[in-house]
Amino acid sequence: MRMPALGTQFPLLEMIHVRKGTAGRAPDDHVHDNEVIGVVLLKRYLKNISSRIPEKPPHRSPGDVKPEIETRETKRNSYIVRSSHRDVTMENIQVMGVKCLPLIHAGDDIAQMICDHIPLQDGDILCIASTIHSKAKGCTKKLSAIIPTKRAERLAKTNGEDPRFVQAVLDASADIIMEQPFILSEMAFGHIGVRAGVDQSNIEDGMVIFLPADPMKSAQELQEEVKMICGRDVGIIITDTCGRSFRRGQTGHAIGWSGFTAIRDFRGDTDLFGHVLKITEEAVADEIAGFANFVMGESNNGVPAVVFRNCPKWTGHDNLYFRNDEDITKKVLKKEWSHERQ
Ligand code: GDP
Ligand code: MN
Ligand code: MN
Repeated sequence: MRMPALGTQFPLLEMIHVRKGTAGRAPDDHVHDNEVIGVVLLKRYLKNISSRIPEKPPHRSPGDVKPEIETRETKRNSYIVRSSHRDVTMENIQVMGVKCLPLIHAGDDIAQMICDHIPLQDGDILCIASTIHSKAKGCTKKLSAIIPTKRAERLAKTNGEDPRFVQAVLDASADIIMEQPFILSEMAFGHIGVRAGVDQSNIEDGMVIFLPADPMKSAQELQEEVKMICGRDVGIIITDTCGRSFRRGQTGHAIGWSGFTAIRDFRGDTDLFGHVLKITEEAVADEIAGFANFVMGESNNGVPAVVFRNCPKWTGHDNLYFRNDEDITKKVLKKEWSHERQ
């Protein structure tokens, strides 16, 4: 039996059910509603796949010669038959958006607030929007308190932005990679982002929100706080909505994480055909952050935390950011800009 192309064989997740969200309402509006807005059951397509796979070897007529040697084809079939005996519901991932949290202010204990709103379980992955972590920690500034430098004035003119906002971006940046049509910069903790991830949304007029200075440390602290509060061992991802190269549209990215590795390392593993994978390192933390961002929504959804339950475990490493010598895109962009400035 010929297998379908890999893409159709493992379309990773199937959305079974989504309960109504809260789009269009301010966070304060739904204090009396159910706390968990979205329960999205995700199943691997293994069930469908196995239904297409024969449980028994195909019938042979008496004249058929059984192959003497184990070919790639027979090896593959034996693998497929074995896989059809697996528990077909091996993963049943639940995704729950946490609503009814109030507007967050400096000094708020977001770990406590989240634990009060949703009963966490061991093994859960709790995604938290960087924006509420920053607000809780006071990583915000009044624009009126920022005095722009000459450079900020110049870039504000070319990019059509408020010079005080540009100064905030420059202050948050460790290294400027590109200056226009928007600032693209690297932060001290390794993340590269448009306008250094400085936000003016979901905060009062005239204020800016900075990304946490050390999101890895923040994620670890949040993990310890959750453990202290409810005794549960959870993983944490601090997310931010980020733009991407080459593709239109923003997605959620993990900027800090704790409790698992950011990368699931497939190198050395074999595919369905026995080929050894040489370069596949799956950025699992970003994938989960991306789906969390979808459940959070942007603008006024009021869902700054999302819980993933029953995710499979993985192993890998935490080197999510390229080293300078590996990052081809950064090198090219920096070279381009050094030419522009000459
Ligand atoms: P970012 O992606 O970290 O920059 O955060 P966003 O501004 O996109 O917000 C992510 C989600 O959190 C959206 O659903 C927002 O409506 C929600 N949100 C942002 N700030 C607050 C807040 O203070 N309280 C509540 N309850 N939700 C918030
Ligand atoms: Mn943001
Ligand atoms: Mn966002």
